Amino acid sequence: PDLVNFERVALRYGRGPEVLTDATLDLPQGSFTFLTGPSGAGKSTLLKLCYLSLIPSRGLIRMFGRDSALLTNPERQAIKRRIGVVLQDFHLIEHLSVYENVALPLRVSGQSRSTYNADVVELLQWVGLGHRMQALPPTLSGGEKQRCAIARAVIAKPDLLIADEPTGNVDPVIGRRLLRLFSEMNRMGATVLIATHDTHLIDELDARVLRIEEGRVFKGKSQ
Ligand code: ADP
Ligand code: ADP
Repeated sequence: PDLVNFERVALRYGRGPEVLTDATLDLPQGSFTFLTGPSGAGKSTLLKLCYLSLIPSRGLIRMFGRDSALLTNPERQAIKRRIGVVLQDFHLIEHLSVYENVALPLRVSGQSRSTYNADVVELLQWVGLGHRMQALPPTLSGGEKQRCAIARAVIAKPDLLIADEPTGNVDPVIGRRLLRLFSEMNRMGATVLIATHDTHLIDELDARVLRIEEGRVFKGKSQ
């Protein structure tokens, strides 16, 4: 079964031109997919549609088998909680510690600190932030922010993991390390979608590749 289907999806911002004109794609359950394409092609836009932060101008988006246009608000929220997202600018909450940022998805889903504390500490140690748990995001380096954002995205074991240029501003060694974390999540069952224009990153893994060109989605890297 597919976790996500786009059928002939179009998206325009306001009265601007259509960024996506006719995008059709599927993400089979358990798949690992890179989404590529030139800067400005619409990668971030497609991801936003996937994590239900934008509504298509035309076409159909099915999430977890449900037509996204027919979801009630509570259903929408429930689906969003099954999705882990890593955005380009991290979106960490600046007045919460690294620990609290990472624990947030679990708190939101109603778990108490005593049930999740050990998991949060273990994950933070695993991503190399064990010594920075009480730090506030503004005091973190770029690489530490990135790992904090990724830890927060994976802590609740999401069914769908979406990342926008997750290695955008880190050196290749850290990039590869982060990619290993996504592979590990995928091995444990998560469906993964990563937008990147970094062809070296794509070459690291034998994963599916989709690319956006002129508002449409194609299979494989370009040319
Ligand atoms: P990519 O991630 O491939 O670089 P984006 O999805 O960020 O591409 O952007 C695709 C196009 O949509 C660009 O022309 C960009 O300027 C435009 N765009 C993105 N976000 C907005 C927005 N919030 N309002 C208006 N235009 C936008
Ligand atoms: P920065 O965040 O300043 O770019 P680095 O990413 O180079 O710093 O890593 C800082 C420390 O954290 C190093 O000791 C590194 O080995 C450790 N580390 C980074 N990522 C991981 C990881 N995924 N798993 C285990 N240790 C990590």
